Amino acid sequence: MLIDPTLVRDMCLTWRVLAVRPRSRNLFDILLSHNIQTPPSAFTDIASSVCKHPGLSPYAHLQSLEPTRTDQAFKDLTPDPWNEVQYQPEDSTVPRVSECRTKESTEPIHVWLQERPAVLDELIKLEGRGCVEHWATCQCGRQDPIYRCRECFTVYFLCKECIVQLHLNHPLHHIEHWTNGYLIRTTLKHLGLRIQLGHKPGETCPNRQPAYDDDFVVIDVHAVHAVALDFCGCERAACHYKQLLRARWFLATIKEPRTAGTFAVMEHFHILSLKSKVTAYEFFHTLARQTDNTGLTPIRDHYAVFLKMASGWRNIKAFKRAGRGHDPGGINTTKAGELAVLCPTCPQPGRNLPPGWENSEQG
Ligand SMILES: [Zn+2]
Ligand SMILES: [Zn+2]
Ligand SMILES: [Zn+2]
Repeated sequence: MLIDPTLVRDMCLTWRVLAVRPRSRNLFDILLSHNIQTPPSAFTDIASSVCKHPGLSPYAHLQSLEPTRTDQAFKDLTPDPWNEVQYQPEDSTVPRVSECRTKESTEPIHVWLQERPAVLDELIKLEGRGCVEHWATCQCGRQDPIYRCRECFTVYFLCKECIVQLHLNHPLHHIEHWTNGYLIRTTLKHLGLRIQLGHKPGETCPNRQPAYDDDFVVIDVHAVHAVALDFCGCERAACHYKQLLRARWFLATIKEPRTAGTFAVMEHFHILSLKSKVTAYEFFHTLARQTDNTGLTPIRDHYAVFLKMASGWRNIKAFKRAGRGHDPGGINTTKAGELAVLCPTCPQPGRNLPPGWENSEQG
């Protein structure tokens, strides 16, 4: 039996998706259809090995495994109760759903392999300008617009003025610039967008105060951005760090902040680190990769700043969850242990003990 290593690798990758739904046995169907006599447990070993070590060859793993079960072993698997219940019409003249099943519906990997070139074509098309209606005219009527956002829903090209106007409320999007027959990345800062804090989007403060050295960095879920930021300098304006917080940007330093992280990225990293144990170092460098995976543009290292922000975020969130923000004395009066989460199974008077529990007889 010949096994196509590419197919096996695809199956392993598909497994990574299907593993989210452990009730699915599609892969076992695939194995059966290719006469691969490998037990399910062995296959999951292959898949997990490939996940952990992308350089490993699933083909080599398959070859090294001694087949310990036959195809019949797969067929003898009991029906999975988690599988979706198929609709069965009462009218006996209508064929049952199971009888209507085609090879494509029972073996979706075949359909995927068939359409894979078309999917790749669509991805490649997005690396260019796409259809002529996408780039012929800007929404304002100008001809041959050359800017497009990578994160907005639209794939239409816009002129410089329109794309800046469109991103007054989305100042952390990635912009592409069509030049010399290909797309290069540019920034909204480079296109002239200035982010004004303390005022409505599009307004300019009469006493605007540019960030220190007009060099401000915002770390977001998708990338690390250099932005042009103006603080409000009006008479009743809040201090700078409060202006940042009111824009949902967390900060590392109170005085003259030069770096911020969006609340979204702080929350994302907080949950991700608890669920997947990713470190701040790995997370930040993933963001740096997302910003520029070619390595052509040097990414300034804000790891230390991000680490400081992450610990500050956790600390503040702990106070918030414990309700310390509503204490008249403020969070500085918090006593040791007051931020700890109570054990839900331990007896807590007033919470999970019945009234009069202290008068009950000792058992
Ligand atoms: Zn335009
Ligand atoms: Zn956008
Ligand atoms: Zn102002």
